[in-house]
Amino acid sequence: MGNLTRDFFISLSNNKILNANAKKWGFRLGAEKFVAGIDIDSVVETVKEINAHGISCTLDNLGEFVYEIEEAAFAKAEILSVLDKIHEENLDCHVSLKLTQIGLDIDREYCIKNMVEILEKAGSYNIFINIDMEKYIHYEKTLEILEVLRQKFDNIGTVIQTYLYRAEDDLKQLQDVRIRMVKGAYKESEAVAFQSKEDIDANFIKLAKGRLLGDAFTSIATHDHRIINEMKAFVKENNIRKDKFEFQMLYGFRTEMHSELRQEGYKFCTYIPFGTDWFGYFMRRLAERPQNLNLVMKDVFYT
Ligand code: FAD
Repeated sequence: MGNLTRDFFISLSNNKILNANAKKWGFRLGAEKFVAGIDIDSVVETVKEINAHGISCTLDNLGEFVYEIEEAAFAKAEILSVLDKIHEENLDCHVSLKLTQIGLDIDREYCIKNMVEILEKAGSYNIFINIDMEKYIHYEKTLEILEVLRQKFDNIGTVIQTYLYRAEDDLKQLQDVRIRMVKGAYKESEAVAFQSKEDIDANFIKLAKGRLLGDAFTSIATHDHRIINEMKAFVKENNIRKDKFEFQMLYGFRTEMHSELRQEGYKFCTYIPFGTDWFGYFMRRLAERPQNLNLVMKDVFYT
C-alpha cells in the first residue's frame, strides 16, 4: 500500500469527531471481523472457544482520546469489571490497556492512581496487565509510569515498537520486564523512527533475538510469517525453551496460523479488542494492510 493510503487511514484514526461518532453507530464497515464484540459479556464465549484450543488471550476494552475525568473513571471501572469476569469465568486471559484511556492526558497522578487500583485487583486474581504503547508523544511518560509501578507490582509489562531508534536502548532498561515486541502502528517522524519496512523488520528481528537470549518473557507480536519463521529457526538453533516466549496476533488476522503455531508446540496469545470505541483501532488496521480494505469493500457493497 502506498504511503498516501496509509497516511489517509492513520489520519482518519486520529480524527476525534469520527472516533466519537462511531461509538454511536455500532459496528460498521466490517469492523466486526476484527473487533470481537461490543461489551465484555459478548466476548466471553469467544475467549472460551479460543482457550479451548490451548491459546491464551489478552482483552483490550478499546478506548482512546480520553480527556475528561468521567470518561477515564468509566474506562477504569470497565477494566475492573473485565478483571472480575476473567476471574469468575476462569479464563486464560490477561488485559491490555492504554494509559491515555485511564487519564494520561488528564493528569499523571490520576492515571497512576487508576493503574494502582487496576494492578491491585489484577494481582489479587493473578492476572497480568500489559500497557499498550501509543504514539511517541506518550512514549516517555508511559515508560516513566511503568518504572513507578514496577516498584510495587510485578504483574505489569509493556510494548516496545521496533520502528523507534531508541527501542534497543529502552530494551536494555527493561531486561527483567515482560515485553511485547511489535513493529509499531502509528505514523512517527524520521527524527525518531525508521521509515522503511526493511529497516523496521531488520530491527525487529535483531531486537527480538536479543530478547529471546535474555531471561524475561517475550511476546513476539506480528503477522509476518517471514519473521515468525526466522524466530522459530533461531529458537531451535539456540535451544531456547518454548515457555520463555509466545507468539501474539490480533483477533481476526491469519487465524489459521494461530492454531498451526499452537499445534507446533509454541505458546500463542490472541489479542482481542472489544467495545464501542472501535474506529481508531480499525483505521490503524486498514492503514497496515490493503487486503483489510478489500474486506471492508465487500462488506459495504455486498451486505
Ligand atoms: P506487516 O508488516 O503488516 O506485514 C508483513 C507481511 O506479513 C505482509 O507483507 C504479508 O506478507 C504478511 N501479512 C501480514 N498480515 C497478514 C494477513 N492478515 N494475512 C496474510 N498475510 C499477512 N502497535 C503499537 O504501536 N502498539 C501496540 O501496543 C501494539 N500491540 C499489538 C499487539 C499485537 C498482538 C499485534 C499483532 C500487533 C500490535 N501492534 C501494536 C501493531 C504492530 O505495531 C503492527 O502495526 C502490526 O502488527 C502490523 O505489522 P506486522 O508485524 O503484523 O506485519
